[in-house]
Amino acid sequence: MLALVTGASKGIGRAIALELAKNGFNVAINYNRSSESAEKLRDEIKTLGVNTEIFQADVSNYEQVTSLMKSVKDSMKESISVLVNNAGITRDTLLMRMKPEDWQAVLNTNLNAAFYCTREVIRDMAKARYGRIINIASVVGLTGNAGQANYAASKAGIIGLTKSVAREYAERGITVNAIAPGFIETDMTEVLKPEVKEGILQSIPVHKIGSPEDVAKAVAFFASEASAYITGQVLAVDGGMTMC
Ligand code: NAP
Repeated sequence: MLALVTGASKGIGRAIALELAKNGFNVAINYNRSSESAEKLRDEIKTLGVNTEIFQADVSNYEQVTSLMKSVKDSMKESISVLVNNAGITRDTLLMRMKPEDWQAVLNTNLNAAFYCTREVIRDMAKARYGRIINIASVVGLTGNAGQANYAASKAGIIGLTKSVAREYAERGITVNAIAPGFIETDMTEVLKPEVKEGILQSIPVHKIGSPEDVAKAVAFFASEASAYITGQVLAVDGGMTMC
């Protein structure tokens, strides 16, 4: 079975691609700018004995998504059974300073891309009467966060998308679930000041920052047969940070 992971060149997406490969999935690796990291990941996944290739595309661009899906199908000779909408960016600042372009960029990459990719895979999944769509949201999509109006709105949007598509396609054997990571150690969180990191750490009951692998394991569960009776759910992978 073939899984496509968007934004898989780094961080959480990279860990998801590896974990799915370890679980026997063939993996289409999407990246945008980090071609070297994507190539390294492809070489690592190849050693696991599954089929894998890298595909450059900016998933916030609909035309690029349509050609991405065609390239994946043509070169991997298989249709996509598992879609992981992971690609994401931040442009954090307080609302008054947030420029419309900061808003648009984040919504385009974090939300519109998930819609584009889902729209392009759903027909094949419906035909196959099987599919797994896993959307990477965030706990801030549930709680909101000062300085992240654009990001939190995009992640709340992805939760609405998850539940709506889950309802539309439940009868076709397609499950759609979201994962809401808390604070995970990647390039995205590396930019935070040490005192901000410390403050966040204090709000995590397990007193640990999460790893990309913590998220990847939850994705593997939603990608598997074991989660067949679960759809439209949001699973927080956050060390107990939100509990809502
Ligand atoms: P990261 O280390 O910054 O990696 C982001 C990935 O997204 C990169 O592989 C990047 O690819 C890709 N990407 C960005 N824009 C893209 C585009 N337009 N088209 C295709 N790929 C694109 O971030 P991360 O922490 O792993 O985050 C992954 C996901 O988890 C995001 O959706 C994020 O919102 C979510 N999340 C993260 C945390 C956290 O604490 N880290 C918490 C909650 C949710 P290139 O480098 O190739 O451009």
